[in-house]
Amino acid sequence: MTGKDRPEFHDEFIEAEFFGFAKSYFSEMFPNPQRIGCPPDYDLQRMAEHPVEARDAHVSEHLTCCSPCFNRYMEILADLRQRST
Ligand SMILES: [Zn+2]
Repeated sequence: MTGKDRPEFHDEFIEAEFFGFAKSYFSEMFPNPQRIGCPPDYDLQRMAEHPVEARDAHVSEHLTCCSPCFNRYMEILADLRQRST
């Protein structure tokens, strides 16, 4: 009965795993070379800086079905993280 403290159940680990998976999945699965239905770059930046769930719902939904926007959003997030450190 010592199986309670096994390290693979740390939340942080699972989160990182999932995020890594989601990142490679979303960044490749939905090519949209003509950028059909894409929100303006401004919307992506606004959501990255000050996410408001009700207002940004359609943008965040779009990210889950459009690789170019997803990649752009990841870029913006990385930028913000760099600027804030
Ligand atoms: Zn898009």
